[in-house]
Amino acid sequence: MKVADIRRTFLNFYESKGHTIVASSPVVPAHDPTLLFTNAGMNQFKDVFLGFDKRPYTRATTSQKCIRAGGKHNDLDNVGYTARHHTFFEMLGNFSFGDYFKHDAINFAWELLTKHFMLPAEKLWVTVYAEDDEAYNIWHEEVGVPAERIVRIGDNKGARYMSDNFWMMGDTGPCGPCTEIFYDHGDKIQGGPPGSPEEDGDRYIEIWNLVFMQFNRDERGVMHKLPKPSVDTGMGLERIAAVLQGVHNNYDIDLFKNLLASVKRVLEETSGEAVDPESPSLKVIADHIRACTFSVADGIVPGNEGRAYVLRRICRRAIRHGYKLGARKPFFYKLVDAVRAEMAEAYPEINNPRIEKVIEEEERRFFLTLSKGMEILDAAIAGSKDGVLDGEVVFKLHDTYGFPADLTGDVCRERDVKIDFDGFDAAMARQREAARASAKFKMAAGLEYTGADTVFTGYETLEENEATV
Ligand code: ATP
Ligand code: MG
Ligand code: MG
Ligand code: MG
Repeated sequence: MKVADIRRTFLNFYESKGHTIVASSPVVPAHDPTLLFTNAGMNQFKDVFLGFDKRPYTRATTSQKCIRAGGKHNDLDNVGYTARHHTFFEMLGNFSFGDYFKHDAINFAWELLTKHFMLPAEKLWVTVYAEDDEAYNIWHEEVGVPAERIVRIGDNKGARYMSDNFWMMGDTGPCGPCTEIFYDHGDKIQGGPPGSPEEDGDRYIEIWNLVFMQFNRDERGVMHKLPKPSVDTGMGLERIAAVLQGVHNNYDIDLFKNLLASVKRVLEETSGEAVDPESPSLKVIADHIRACTFSVADGIVPGNEGRAYVLRRICRRAIRHGYKLGARKPFFYKLVDAVRAEMAEAYPEINNPRIEKVIEEEERRFFLTLSKGMEILDAAIAGSKDGVLDGEVVFKLHDTYGFPADLTGDVCRERDVKIDFDGFDAAMARQREAARASAKFKMAAGLEYTGADTVFTGYETLEENEATV
């Protein structure tokens, strides 16, 4: 089954169960300042869950464009390192707005996986929220999943495990306990079952999360009961495609195989050099071109703040990976067509020719400083002491060469070097102080008002200081 067939089968299945097929919302959330990007299928229904908005249906199903590259759900640093994370991905979901609850949500999911997708039941594991006996009993007694493949997981307050069976969209908003379905890719792959300390491996891959929406969390962290208990589920299209196509890694599914071939070809045409087909950089680029294509299609332009800066970071990270594979001039924008070949039928908004223009413009700008910046970085890494890169260098690259700190972090991680973030922060603070002083001086001298608050703060205005090594 190809990706497109899987998407169709999912939506048709839920339509046959009385759900209305609703189009994906844009990757930029409408009227929601708490969210940088759409990060789940439920986002467009947030107000319906909260009881503020009514729809002509109580059951819906979608395939939602999601980006997880900032804020509470940020997978940017996982891309290229795990088999299952993307910055941009599609989330298949079914929703009940005060209609059915745990019983039907679990039974529908099981029917789709085992009767339509024909997955062997013994490869499926489930987790439930530690205190949720109701969900446990539905899985065990009705569906017949044996106790040894049902794991109870708490809210992860002690942070002992990676799993967390209490789902939250962000720090505020609808949330609730959940039950997750995992697929065992077999003992050739490292990793332990869900809830075990080794679970962060890639053997048992989480494919589907069924959230029982019961609360609205406010700014103070207080949970308020929702008017009616509801259901929100999310299954990663690329992950279920990997399972159904008998491959382990998301990057081996049909869509990514084609995209990876295009990345390799375009890079080779650009540099005239052969590219190693196994290079992880190809995967990073293939991932990032989807995120960039869809972001620009939905109206974002690379810039210095908020989501515009996230787009700039994703774009420049991809360009740097291309540089690593030999590109010395723009190549990235040429890949938009390869994304179209795979996805424009489902998402015609990416047919917009402006996408290439915006990406190429960003690429031209970054190529002006990239070589010189890389020279400085290479030299600094070679001269670094105790495996730590001087924060002043990170700042200089950021300030003068347009290297977002996380891009420098990405290079350092490849070379096993850490970043001195205190030094970086100190340099940033110094620059801000200098800018403020110069604004004051100019005002006092009757020169123009530059406005100290317009000083570049792109790195800081990310929701958290997220640059990591
Ligand atoms: P993981 O633990 O693997 O990071 P998650 O628990 O953060 O996933 P959820 O928030 O539960 O993910 O999202 C619902 C589903 O969306 C997941 O079960 C998974 O199939 C898919 N998904 C989540 N994050 C990604 C991603 N970065 N790339 C691809 N698919 C994803
Ligand atoms: Mg995650
Ligand atoms: Mg998870
Ligand atoms: Mg999950």
